[in-house]
Amino acid sequence: MTTAENDLGQRFLFDDTDIRGEILSLQDSYHQVLQNGDYPPALQILLGEFLAGVALLSATLKFDGSISLQAVGKGPVNMIVADCTRQSSLRAITRFSAAPFDGECGETTSTVTDSAALTSLLGSQATLAVTIEPAQGERYQGIVPLERHSLSDCLSDYFHRSEQLPTRICLSADGRRAAGLLLQVLPLSDGTRDEWDEGEEHWRLVNTLVDTLNKQEQLEFGHETLLRRLFYQQKVRMLATRTFRFSCSCSRARTARALLGFGAHELQVMLEEKTPIEITCQFCLQHYRFNKKDIEKLLNDDPTLH
Ligand SMILES: [Zn+2]
Repeated sequence: MTTAENDLGQRFLFDDTDIRGEILSLQDSYHQVLQNGDYPPALQILLGEFLAGVALLSATLKFDGSISLQAVGKGPVNMIVADCTRQSSLRAITRFSAAPFDGECGETTSTVTDSAALTSLLGSQATLAVTIEPAQGERYQGIVPLERHSLSDCLSDYFHRSEQLPTRICLSADGRRAAGLLLQVLPLSDGTRDEWDEGEEHWRLVNTLVDTLNKQEQLEFGHETLLRRLFYQQKVRMLATRTFRFSCSCSRARTARALLGFGAHELQVMLEEKTPIEITCQFCLQHYRFNKKDIEKLLNDDPTLH
C-alpha cells in the first residue's frame, strides 16, 4: 500500500474514457485550521469536508485569484466558510452556537461519521455560495440551496448545473485527515455533452464503483492504491500534483480598510471606549492593534473622507 499523502492534490485521467479526476488528501493544513478554533467533533468533520471541497474547486481556477465555499443557515451552525487560492493556500472558519454541541464532548474525533447532518447543522433553509474572486476583475458568485444531505452531493449538483458536465464528488474527514475525490466528464470540443453514448456507459460504471467507496479507505489509503482498488478494470494515469498549505491573506492594510468602513464617528466612539482598538483575524488569530495616532492617520489618508 502506498503511504497516504499529506496536503497533496493530484490530477488523473482514465485511458480510453472521457473522464477526468482529482484526488486530494489534507492533514497539516487541516490541523492548522482546527487549532485556530475550539470546534466540536461534528464541526471538525464539516470543516474538513469544506476544506477538501474548496481545494477540489480551486483546481478549476484558470486565473490568479481565489475561490470560496460559504454556507449560511439558521441551525446551530450560522456560517461556515473555506477558501483556497490558485496557489493552493487554504483556510476555513465557522460560527456556531455552543449549546447544541454540549452533549457530544465525550465523542472521539477520530470516528468517521456521515455528514448527513449537514441540514441539521445549518437548518433547512441554508444556502451554499460559491464565489470566485479573480485577482483582477469582477467576482462571480453562484448560490445554491443546501437541499442535499451531504456537501459531496451539493457540490456535485453545483458542478453539474454550472459547468453542464456530469460530476461526482466524494468528501471525507475525521478530525485528523480530510480527503476529496472528483470525477468529471470531459467536455466535447464544442463544450457540451449532448451527443454522448458510449461515454455514458463508462460514466455509469465509474459511478457504480465510486458508490462502493468507504470513507475510512478514502482517508487512509494512498492515492494510487485507492484509485487502483476502486477502478481495477480501468487504466488510470496520474498527472500533475499540487501541494496545499494553510495560509491566511489577512494583513494590517486590509484590516485598516475594514476599520474605515465603520466611518470616522464610529471609530472615535470605539477609541473612547478602548485604546488601542484590537482586531483579531478569526482565520489565523493574528492580532492587529490600532492606537489613536494610527486611526487619525488612517482617517487623514482616506480620500473618500475628504
Ligand atoms: Zn488571518
